[in-house]
Amino acid sequence: MPEKTRIIRVAIPAPLPRLFDYLCTDLTVAAGMRVRVPFGPRPVVGLVIETDVLSDHPSEQLKAIKTVIDNKPLLGKDMLSLCQWTASYYHHAPGEAYLAALPAALRRGEPARLPPPDSWQLTAAGQALELDTLKRAPRQQQVLARLRQATGAVEGSVLCQELGSVRPIIKALQDKGWIEQAKPPTAAALANAGPALSTDQTAVVKAVTDKLHGFHPCLLEGITGSGKTEVYIQIIRAVLEQDQQALVMVPEIALTPQLVDRFRSQLGVDIAVLHSGLTDTERMRAWLRAANGDLRLVIGTRSAIFTPLARPGVIIVDEEHDSSYKQQDGLRYSARDLAVRRAQMSAIPIVLGSATPSLESLHNAQRGRYTHLRLPQRAGLAELPSMRLIDIRRARLREGISEALLTSMQQHLDKGGQVMLFINRRGFAPIMMCHACGWSAECQRCDTRLTYHRGIHALRCHHCGSERRPPSQCPACNANELLPLGLGTERVEEVLRAQFRHIGIARIDRDTTRRKGSLQALLDEVNSQRAQILIGTQMLAKGHDFPHLSLVGVLDADGGLFGSDFRASEHMAQLITQVAGRAGRGERPGEVLIQTHHPDHPLLLQLLGEGYDGFANSVLEERQAAGYPPFASLALLRAEAPDADAPRRFLTLAANLAAPLCGKLVERWGPLPAPMERRAGRMRAQLLLQSRERAALHSLLKQLMPQLYALPEARKVRWSLDVDPIDML
Ligand code: ADP
Ligand code: ZN
Ligand code: ZN
Repeated sequence: MPEKTRIIRVAIPAPLPRLFDYLCTDLTVAAGMRVRVPFGPRPVVGLVIETDVLSDHPSEQLKAIKTVIDNKPLLGKDMLSLCQWTASYYHHAPGEAYLAALPAALRRGEPARLPPPDSWQLTAAGQALELDTLKRAPRQQQVLARLRQATGAVEGSVLCQELGSVRPIIKALQDKGWIEQAKPPTAAALANAGPALSTDQTAVVKAVTDKLHGFHPCLLEGITGSGKTEVYIQIIRAVLEQDQQALVMVPEIALTPQLVDRFRSQLGVDIAVLHSGLTDTERMRAWLRAANGDLRLVIGTRSAIFTPLARPGVIIVDEEHDSSYKQQDGLRYSARDLAVRRAQMSAIPIVLGSATPSLESLHNAQRGRYTHLRLPQRAGLAELPSMRLIDIRRARLREGISEALLTSMQQHLDKGGQVMLFINRRGFAPIMMCHACGWSAECQRCDTRLTYHRGIHALRCHHCGSERRPPSQCPACNANELLPLGLGTERVEEVLRAQFRHIGIARIDRDTTRRKGSLQALLDEVNSQRAQILIGTQMLAKGHDFPHLSLVGVLDADGGLFGSDFRASEHMAQLITQVAGRAGRGERPGEVLIQTHHPDHPLLLQLLGEGYDGFANSVLEERQAAGYPPFASLALLRAEAPDADAPRRFLTLAANLAAPLCGKLVERWGPLPAPMERRAGRMRAQLLLQSRERAALHSLLKQLMPQLYALPEARKVRWSLDVDPIDML
């Protein structure tokens, strides 16, 4: 080996349980820089993790890198440690874990150069323009109107998020000389102070800002509408004053323009909003600006947890119980759990906020690991809504809606209030059945029934997306008696349109909001009161503030009482509490009516009687008795293949390898078929590992995983390990 040659260890984007060593003569290369290296048939972009290592392989066998891409590290020590921790905690291929921290453009090897700014403001000509003259160019009118109401320049990505893909429109307006590129707003003078905080809010802000230096995990349990967002803003303000940066995590669905506007207008700083709709360039831009310290505030969904910060000051995780923080394929991390870990590594405070905290976080607070902060009252004059059950046993239902609920709706509408009906199922009906013989339409690729969508007259599988025309007669008995059974949002809309003929109705679910900008348009209809009735799925449960909403109806609370998953009741209680929390946020008192066939069910009664906290405490007791999380740790090994044999064989071998490692501390369940055995044409099985000692489970996994990679049977299936799974599907 020539004298100046070093051996460097590189992360490669491949599903393999190790890093790879290469020779390198470049003395400037350092951890966190990208290199191009030979790997398989063509060079790949890898990330240097260590330099000057002692390789287990003789150096004659090592290949040399091709080129060094960066002249300084893209990831600092802090991010590299976070990635390393992620790989080892989730027992995932380290190469994939490290590269998950880079935006796609950088993973592809593009130069880490800041793309030109992309913020827009009106020119003088644009200011002077009569918007009415643009009636025939409504999209241009929209963009101009949006810029006119803005307090400063608006980023292109924000315009696209709010108004749909308006890139060509931006270009056209620029060509006409009506808008121009501008520096993003930085003037602190823009900041409005926000409302004066209540005593409770002030106490919470103080509890966090008194300890800004050092790891300080807090659970902020604040009922819906208690002013948590206001608290976040004040905490961030204190962090910004110290010239540090803040990272705010939000669930995808809760990321609304209103939320971002509140942060922007009250803090008066430039904000990067990271969500799944960004282009690769936009994402890289925000990533680089956060990394160099230029951006002071980053708001983002799950993957934003990997945004590097030059001077981290605080992390906030809003709606920390939300299941969208868990990645459900590939590297199955929990962004909330990583956030806690990251705050600990960076020695900064973290605030986990929710009206309905996860049982994991409540348990951590009860054990004193997290400081438990509370906001038990609504902000301003608003009061929590009253909740009541409607017993629908033997009640006459109009397509699933009781007379009692219809009457109540009419009363609220008469008084000028808005009404929201919640049903967590989209489409028209979840079952299409033959009344003559009992046949029902099933997916050909999954073990599940097809949902009937009337709008597009199709049967659709909500698991694999396949779709077909409904048969005109029963394929089993040829009768002409096919009936759609059960209730979905589309059907509820139809019933209500017939019942309330002259009242505007907005349906908000994944089908009506697929197009960019359509969610915003529907929300506008509600906020302008053109729509007085809202129907929706869990998309409505989060974050939205409808000041005129006075009645919330929950059409079916029973699903969560008997779900097969041990988390079903937790999720039901969170959904009901969050949905109920949409009511009565303005001046009108709110009312919540919950239809159920089980009005005596202890969990429902507890939720209504003692609120979410009382409910959570009894479920925690149940979990402790049963040895479920958070009193135990789980890891789920999944395997799937076109035939049922290969997954079973692989998991049986895995179970046999695990057996001698289990000892007394780890229990094995399976291999068993997955609750939905066939999905998208593949047969699925799983092996559950469970232990009351997290460390015992992880030490087992650490020994087991390399053995699994080495199994020839592993190559015949698609397999994955899910540490801390949130569903068993
Ligand atoms: P949460 O995030 O807990 O649901 P928000 O921060 O959205 O609550 O606050 C709910 C509503 O109350 C918002 O309209 C907000 O502007 C208002 N609000 C918050 N804090 C105060 C306060 N101290 N005084 C008056 N209004 C407030
Ligand atoms: Zn039939
Ligand atoms: Zn399917």
